Amino acid sequence: MIHDSVDKAKKGSGCPSQGAGNDYAARQKKEDEAILASLSCIKHKIFILSGKGGVGKSSVSANLAASLSKKGYKTGLMDVDVHGPSIAQMLGIKDILDISENHLLIPKKISDTLKVVSVQSLMQDKDQAIIWRGPAKTGMIRQFVSSVEWGDLDFLIIDAPPGTGDEPLTVVQTIPEALGVIVTTPQEVALADIRKSISFCKTVRLKTLGIVENMAGFKCPHCHEPITLFSSGGGERTAKSQGLTFLGSIPFDTAVVASGDNGVPIMFQDKKTEFTMAFDQVVDNILKQL
Ligand code: ADP
Ligand code: MG
Repeated sequence: MIHDSVDKAKKGSGCPSQGAGNDYAARQKKEDEAILASLSCIKHKIFILSGKGGVGKSSVSANLAASLSKKGYKTGLMDVDVHGPSIAQMLGIKDILDISENHLLIPKKISDTLKVVSVQSLMQDKDQAIIWRGPAKTGMIRQFVSSVEWGDLDFLIIDAPPGTGDEPLTVVQTIPEALGVIVTTPQEVALADIRKSISFCKTVRLKTLGIVENMAGFKCPHCHEPITLFSSGGGERTAKSQGLTFLGSIPFDTAVVASGDNGVPIMFQDKKTEFTMAFDQVVDNILKQL
């Protein structure tokens, strides 16, 4: 880039910094076009977000992608949680992603109908921290759309870090037609942060499909009595008070923890449990709205 600028200056086509600026603008324009081309082949983009960490965004993303792909929908799953990516672990991806002949990133194929890209799959050392500021994260998210061989998809599920910072904002700016699904747990400490997510969606005009309440209740495996681990009903109350759709309530299930650690989302398995039935309901409620 610097050499190009010097060449241009020698040829008398303006100062070097002006040349660099033109190069940058041209590259951005090319990337914008690639983003539009990539998005035009994807029918629905669903953005999973939450103001709070640990409420189950990645688990919901992984299981929603698994469920949709199992129903036969061509599905992509994109992990943009730069500092705490969980999707590679939850989908059992161990190797680094390959690059195609035309220099595009090849997503990891989990099944005939599910492809996954995670920032984790770009790192040689899985435990190495990614220490990036906003512009680097923005660049990566844009490239995850423009420079990945997604092909034709029915759904792209996007898993974001908690909060309303660089990553969610870049997702909304890069994929303005994305539809948000807000994940919460039922207790007030989580709901206080979720109200900020709702405010974020309104401010940046991100249309929301609704709220999912996760880890709502646990059945004691010994006495089978229900235990409200994180209180109850908060997700539905918040949806009502904010005029949003309540997509459903998912129980706490230790099998979700095990399946996340083992790299096979529980919705890929054929078992019928309270969790899978509740999750099916959430998926149906999402599909009904599209
Ligand atoms: P986030 O992406 O919001 O930070 P995760 O999806 O990583 O949250 O979930 C945090 C932890 O909680 C993970 O270990 C996950 O397995 C577990 N978890 C998520 N949802 C459930 C659930 N319904 N029942 C049991 N454990 C869950
Ligand atoms: Mg996560």
